[in-house]
Amino acid sequence: MPGLLPLACLLVPLAAAQPATPAIDVAYERDLNAVPAPRSLRAWHDRLGSEPHVAGTPGDARVLDNLADAFERMGLQVERHEFLALLPLPVQGIVEIVSPTVLALPVIERPLAEDPDTAHADLTIGWNAYSGNGDVTAAVVYANYGTREDFDTLRELGVEVEGRIVVARYGRNFRGYKAKFAEAAGAVGLIIYTDPDDSGYRKGLPYPEGGYAGESSIQRGSIVTLDWPGDPLTPFVAADDDATRTDPDDLALPRIPVQPIGWGAASQILSRMDGPVVPGGWQGGLPFAYRTTGGPDLRVRVAVTQDRSLRRSASILGVLPGGVTPEQKVIIGCHHDAWGFGAGDPLAGTIVLLECARSFATLAGRGRVPDRTIVFAAWGAEEYGMVGSVEWCETHREDLLANAVAYINLDAAAMGPNLGVAASPTLKRLIEAAARSVPQAGGDPGETAYETWLGDREHVPFGDLGGGSDHVGFYCHLGIPSCGLSAHGSKGTSYHSNYDTLAWYRQVVGDDYEPALMLTRLTNIVAARLADAPLLPLDLTRFAPDVRVHIETLRTRAQVLDFDADLTDLERAADEFEAAAGPIQKRLDEAVAAGRLDAATLGKINRALMSSRRSWLLEQGLPQRPWYRNIFAATDPDSGYAAWMLPGMRYCIESRDADGLEEAQQRCVGALEATGQLMESIDAELGG
Ligand SMILES: [Zn+2]
Repeated sequence: MPGLLPLACLLVPLAAAQPATPAIDVAYERDLNAVPAPRSLRAWHDRLGSEPHVAGTPGDARVLDNLADAFERMGLQVERHEFLALLPLPVQGIVEIVSPTVLALPVIERPLAEDPDTAHADLTIGWNAYSGNGDVTAAVVYANYGTREDFDTLRELGVEVEGRIVVARYGRNFRGYKAKFAEAAGAVGLIIYTDPDDSGYRKGLPYPEGGYAGESSIQRGSIVTLDWPGDPLTPFVAADDDATRTDPDDLALPRIPVQPIGWGAASQILSRMDGPVVPGGWQGGLPFAYRTTGGPDLRVRVAVTQDRSLRRSASILGVLPGGVTPEQKVIIGCHHDAWGFGAGDPLAGTIVLLECARSFATLAGRGRVPDRTIVFAAWGAEEYGMVGSVEWCETHREDLLANAVAYINLDAAAMGPNLGVAASPTLKRLIEAAARSVPQAGGDPGETAYETWLGDREHVPFGDLGGGSDHVGFYCHLGIPSCGLSAHGSKGTSYHSNYDTLAWYRQVVGDDYEPALMLTRLTNIVAARLADAPLLPLDLTRFAPDVRVHIETLRTRAQVLDFDADLTDLERAADEFEAAAGPIQKRLDEAVAAGRLDAATLGKINRALMSSRRSWLLEQGLPQRPWYRNIFAATDPDSGYAAWMLPGMRYCIESRDADGLEEAQQRCVGALEATGQLMESIDAELGG
């Protein structure tokens, strides 16, 4: 299909830009990337972002049918993976000042004349899924971001939290931990608000004039902090109709009522507080002095009612069976559920997913299918805690462990022109190489995404893959190589608010769909090489430099905690692994580039490359968190967003457990040695 842009002249000649990477089908990649078009991406956006679609609601059900229809029309096999999970919905939320004078505060965004979608009848009040139900009235305490350290500071200051309602601002940690720490400190209720310093007018003009949070903008979101993601009631097993379910009363779900509000409503409370002025760093962006306590006269009411029912939703998968080794699969995913319209989160990624699917399906329609299977997955109920993806991983655990080549996550991907990638070590080389043949969104002719990504650095920056999205089941539970591809840099945020509309996206991120086009092309190339290259582009050698970086982080952390951590064994293991594996990789690259390996040999090498994940998996899981089995990476258990690298070791440093640290270190040494043995077995196949 002819594109709107002169694609041929934008594409960088692949052969010239490639280092000695495994043999790739340049023509296939060029044809794939001639398919995606801005007008098509825009049409997907119109199709999925026309109404609110919270998981388990009628809007969600219509999106499911819409996605199934889209994949079917492309000619893909459609699979509907249903689940029955604990998915609460809001019934009521009240925040009011009850003394000295009564003042009810808004708990929903103001509709905007400039953006008629913001008046849609199906939009909800602001709410935090899994809040406790309750109706409390009490004095207030301001707790800054509500981190563990913030509550420690309040204790040191002698501020009584017991029996009070805590007011905390969004940011720094996952909101669920604000609730957890407030509840642990004895608070009877929690109000979370968006401070203008963090996402409001201190950053830039609010929507609709600019893109930032206005006075009534509210961040919704789940506050569950269990030691496993997915359906809270069915850890480790699929949430199907006959699953054995835990009683919700036996789970550490929040018990206090938690209600989010905008900064306009929060300023009504904060400006009436008259206790001691806050410590350094706690002052936010509102134009008055912030105080830790409200004084005896200021009393606030928080009342929350949620319907905590089991609800049904689904993930919709479009499958393109591979032509040679269909049992091996590459999975590309993004969730489809949202807190409102979800134009940014998730649809800025879902449209990329669909356009990738259309690219591969178009070529398949012309008779060109990849060797391996590609699964295009639109996950359900991610916002509640990665429910759809985790339930799918738990359903297909053994098959995925053996046959999933890699997972590519696209959650809310296209939010600006600046590439941002988090990836497991084995995928970094592939992504770097792929970015060299993708035009930069909004860039000069001939400028690649790689060049802009690199900037004036020596190496492109990769983030550590942490928590907070659908890769967690694949990466942290099953050890499957994973990455999150995205692009940022727009001036504003409508995150989880009723303003996350198509009009917001087109005004703030842009109406040209260039970032989404760039990400579609990048994803197409990464997926094409994973699904079609004769040699799987998994680079085991990257474990060495990455482990060394993570050792440094652990050392720094141990120093901060004044804990003596001897990590030289692992450091030595990384050096030895590198010395042995580097030359093997070079011989492997040369053999592939020269076309010296037959299909049977390649098959054996590919199986060795895929089996490396097992070296890093610990059957019994991490300390206190058995669901997390990857000893290379886990979600940070204290913020929920960040990554803990070499988490078994990190845990022992945090808990100052010297024996445990030694044991965890030897496990990592063992994983590196096992990875080294895989490289030796590959060398044997090369006749080395
Ligand atoms: Zn999302």
